[in-house]
Amino acid sequence: MTAGASIAALPHALRDRDELTRHFGGRRPAVFLDYDGTLTPIVDRPEDAVISQSMRAAVRGLAQRCPVCVVSGRDRRVVQDLMGVEDLIVAGSHGFDIWSPSEGTLEHEAGGGFEELIERVTERVREEAGPIEGSLVEPKKASVALHYRLVAATDRSAIKPIVDRVLAEHPGELKVTPGKMVYEIQPKLEWDKGKAVLYLLKALGLDGDDVAPLYLGDDITDEDAFRALSGKGIGIFVGQADDPEIGGRGTSAAFVLDSIEEVQRFLDTLAR
Ligand SMILES: [Mg+2]
Repeated sequence: MTAGASIAALPHALRDRDELTRHFGGRRPAVFLDYDGTLTPIVDRPEDAVISQSMRAAVRGLAQRCPVCVVSGRDRRVVQDLMGVEDLIVAGSHGFDIWSPSEGTLEHEAGGGFEELIERVTERVREEAGPIEGSLVEPKKASVALHYRLVAATDRSAIKPIVDRVLAEHPGELKVTPGKMVYEIQPKLEWDKGKAVLYLLKALGLDGDDVAPLYLGDDITDEDAFRALSGKGIGIFVGQADDPEIGGRGTSAAFVLDSIEEVQRFLDTLAR
């Protein structure tokens, strides 16, 4: 579980403007955005998480003013297709696979060499989860996600044991990250969204003192990015403290926005 401040006690990124200005300290923004649950509502089927016209316009508008990078656990190409914004930096597979309009593909060395392992694991998760109605296996380039949002509440207790079994078959090789009604199984590497954001800042030449990196995200994997940026950047948690899927956990973010509608307003404000 993530330690950190209580979400309810955080300053609000739109309403507490003076506090935000103080955090900026006159620096120019570089904006890192999670995708699911931050730019799009959480949906039953991951392939339905298409960005709204107005959010797309807000991201596009901001990208014309400052560097904007979408950082997602999804495959980079999937995010690019769902976003429909071409001139945007996109980091897929939790930052392993980066594409920028000026540099093209920047594949992180740590991300390679796990295709076979992930393929085998995906097959095993499919076998195990197959009989559970409503379960969804999402194969990705560097991980496999087992979604259970559509699984009947009475059957959900069968999901975690599947993950545990598959992990036990590969001792020391895999790790699991729980999210909102999803377990994500990845190669066990010292890599997360926090390391990805620090890597991106460097790779994109944004690690100078004149840049204030902002990171907006809604889920547990985003906490690594909030922690990595604490003291130098501005982490913004997207969501509500009483959301049962948050489970009363704390956050390492410095600010909060209550909803994706507020994210859109915030992006519009930044672009002005
Ligand atoms: Mg998310």
